[in-house]
Amino acid sequence: MPQHAQSTSEPIGSIDPAGLHLRFHPDAVLRTKARPVGEVTDNVREVAQRMLQIMHEEEGIGLAAPQVGLPWRMFVCLVPEDPIPGASPEGFQEDTAGQPLVCIDPDLTPGGAPDSFEEGCLSLPDIRGQINRQIEVSMEATGLDGNRFTINAAGLLARCIQHEVDHLNGVLIIDKFGQLDRLRTRSALRRLERKAR
Ligand code: ZN
Repeated sequence: MPQHAQSTSEPIGSIDPAGLHLRFHPDAVLRTKARPVGEVTDNVREVAQRMLQIMHEEEGIGLAAPQVGLPWRMFVCLVPEDPIPGASPEGFQEDTAGQPLVCIDPDLTPGGAPDSFEEGCLSLPDIRGQINRQIEVSMEATGLDGNRFTINAAGLLARCIQHEVDHLNGVLIIDKFGQLDRLRTRSALRRLERKAR
C-alpha cells in the first residue's frame, strides 16, 4: 500500500471533475490508503456530483473516490430498496432510503452478527463472491454541507457502507473471498489483469 498520506494537512488540490473516470483492478490507486478530505470546498462538492453521475451511469449502488482515481476518504451510495431478506429495519434511518448519500471522512462502528452475502464491485467487472460483514453499522461522516452526521444502517446499506470504506483503506472484495470464490473467479481476474497491460 504505497502513498500512505494519512496525516497530511496539505489542501486537497483542484480536480477537474470532468476528467474523472472509473478505474479498474489492478490500478494502483485502488490499493492506496486514502487521505482525509477535511474541509468541504466547492471542488469537493463538484467531485461528489461527478461521482454520483458515474455511479448512476454504471448502475452501481456505491462508489468510492479511489475508484475514480482520487485517494480521498469519500464515497457516494444510493441503496434504493433492500433485497436482503430479513434485513432489520430497526435503527435504519428511513430518510436516507432511496436518496443519494455523500459521505466524507467516515468513521464506522460495525455491529450485530456477521452475515455472508454476494457482492460485486464496479472496479471488478464480472467478478462476484460471498463476503462476510456485520449486518449493522453506525457511521459518522461529513456531508456536503460540511456538517458531521450519524447514520445507523442495517441490511444492504450497512453492507454497502462497509464495502465502500474498505475501498478507502485499499481493500477489495477479492481480498475477502473464500477459497471457492477465489478459484471460481480466477480466470476472470486474470483477464482483467491482462487487459490493463
Ligand atoms: Zn467496490
